Amino acid sequence: MADYTIEHWTTAQTTADGSKSDAVAIRVDDRAATRQAIITQLKRNGYPLIERSSWHAQPPRPGMRPSHWDYRDIVIHHAGRSYSCGAPSIEEMQRVQVEDMGRSPPFNDAGYHYAVSCQGEIYEARDIRFIGEHVDKGNTGKIGVVFLANFVEAGEAYDQEYKNLSLFDKVKKLKDIATDQVVAGHDKPTPSQIRAVEILCATLKDFFNITNLGGHREYQMLSSGKGRACPGNPGMEIVKLLRARLALSSPGNWNR
Ligand SMILES: [Zn+2]
Repeated sequence: MADYTIEHWTTAQTTADGSKSDAVAIRVDDRAATRQAIITQLKRNGYPLIERSSWHAQPPRPGMRPSHWDYRDIVIHHAGRSYSCGAPSIEEMQRVQVEDMGRSPPFNDAGYHYAVSCQGEIYEARDIRFIGEHVDKGNTGKIGVVFLANFVEAGEAYDQEYKNLSLFDKVKKLKDIATDQVVAGHDKPTPSQIRAVEILCATLKDFFNITNLGGHREYQMLSSGKGRACPGNPGMEIVKLLRARLALSSPGNWNR
C-alpha cells in the first residue's frame, strides 16, 4: 500500500452554545474503507487478496482518474496468448502491469482491477478507487477482472476480430491472422479459478450495485463496435455461468 496515499478526513461541528456532549460527526474516506472492507470479506470467504504491495506492484503513473464510484458492470478478460497457467502467477501478474504500462499510448497502471490465477488466487491489480483501462472507449462504471491465463482457441481471433475486416485491413494483419490459426494450445479454466472468480464477483456485488456482467468481447462491441476475442470461448462459458449463478444480466440488457 505504499504506492498511493490513503486519505482520511474528518469534519466536526460545534454550536455556539454547545457543550462537550454535542455530537461530533466524523466522516472517514468511505472509498478507502470500502476497498478495505472488500479485502476483509474476501478473506472471510477464504480468499485473502494478494494486495499490490505483496506482489511488488510498480507505483502507478500520475494522472490516474478517480472512479465515479458508480460501478454497475463487471467485465471478464483473459490475459492472452503469451500467458499460461503453468507460469508462476505472481510473475504473470507483474507482467500484466509491465505490459499495460508499456502500451502505446501507455496505461497509467495495470488496466484491470483484479486478477484471478489458475490456482484460484485473487490479486489486487489497479486500486478499485480508480477508473480502469480495460475496455477501449468505455471504462466508466466497469470493474475489470482478468484471468491470468490464455483461453483463446485456434481460429477464434479470426472469427471475432478479423473476419469482418476489409481486405486491406486483413492484409495489414496477415501476421496476426497466421499466428491465430496455429495457436498450439490454450489453458482450460480450473475449478479453483472458477470458484475464486465467483466469490470475487459475489463480493463485489455486495459492495456495489452491480447489475451486468459480461466478457470483454461483448462490452467492446457495444462501446466501439470492434470485435475482440477476449476472454476466449472457455472464458465466455465462465461468463455465462457467473451470470446464472449471480443473477446478473448480459451487457446488452440495460435494466437501469
Ligand atoms: Zn480483454
